[in-house]
Amino acid sequence: MNPGPEHSPSADPTSPEVFRAVTILRAGGLVAFPTETVYGLGADAENAAAVRRIFEVKGRPEAHPLIVHIGRPDWLGHWVADVSPDAQKLAREFWPGPLTLILRRGSRVPLAVTGGLETVGVRVPNHALALAMLQSFGGAVAAPSANRFGRVSPTRAEHVRDDLGDRVDFILDGGPCSVGVESTIVDLSSGEPAILRPGGVTREQLEAVLGRLVPLRHGGPVRSPGQHVLHYAPRAEIVIVGADELLKRAADLIAAGRRVVVLGSPSAGQLPSRLEILPLPDPLADLARSLYDILREVDRRGFDVALVTLPPDEGLGLAIADRLRRAAGPRGPSQ
Ligand code: AMP
Ligand code: MG
Repeated sequence: MNPGPEHSPSADPTSPEVFRAVTILRAGGLVAFPTETVYGLGADAENAAAVRRIFEVKGRPEAHPLIVHIGRPDWLGHWVADVSPDAQKLAREFWPGPLTLILRRGSRVPLAVTGGLETVGVRVPNHALALAMLQSFGGAVAAPSANRFGRVSPTRAEHVRDDLGDRVDFILDGGPCSVGVESTIVDLSSGEPAILRPGGVTREQLEAVLGRLVPLRHGGPVRSPGQHVLHYAPRAEIVIVGADELLKRAADLIAAGRRVVVLGSPSAGQLPSRLEILPLPDPLADLARSLYDILREVDRRGFDVALVTLPPDEGLGLAIADRLRRAAGPRGPSQ
């Protein structure tokens, strides 16, 4: 089931890049590092001052919890109050991989990491360089996505450079991310498991392993920036439309003087002149991998509006539709 870490020529823990990343983490610095989902902006999870710098650099409100990254599944017990049978099952099946488990916080995890919550999100990323760094570091690395708050998550080292520049001490370049959307977050901290954010591990996969339904929980008592409307948003306006109304909406917007792009392949019909098209890859795993690149491309090419139809809420489609809905959310002051 689990393919294991990807091959990477420089995954050797003694490589100079990994050594440099670990040295900086130990000194309380910030390292942007690759994972299979998106690039993370990491600090030593036990160093509250270093963790606070993450919030400054991201421009993120401090009440928002960070994910704690560890190098081996069997280190989970060091960071949480107790490892439930469900947590054991999921960790065994999906780690290393794009799944974050929310459990009760262990005493080593500062409240600065959890945004004051008594729960903590933990995962083992499936990326050879990240694992080399985490295993050599030996502790835990708290990391949100390595972008300014509210912007599109980075899936390449150059995205981190564009967004955060020299505000990070070091960028560990591991090439493009293979999954491309964030991890699935599953809350196991109370009673019934629930998905707080759909991601790289699908709801169907979770249900197969746990042997029961795992509902999606929106809002509720747990604060989660992934649940904010207007997260993952490019500058251009993203408009979600049904397939049957796509061409009419495009024509209306063009008539109103906007520069419009359709994401995907509009079905037969008279294409309005001046309409541009950015095709979306198929199957869904390829779309997930390039989704944030495509949103960045919309901005790079200066479009005002991108029209898109959502994939069905199944498999990876759930995470993709979730990110597109958030990208289309109402514009708020955090822009
Ligand atoms: P990001 O920082 O963009 O990678 O997102 C990290 C995600 O993990 C956010 O949606 C966080 O709110 C979520 N998260 C981390 N720890 C917790 C927690 N203890 N409870 C709920 N969500 C969490
Ligand atoms: Mg993020």
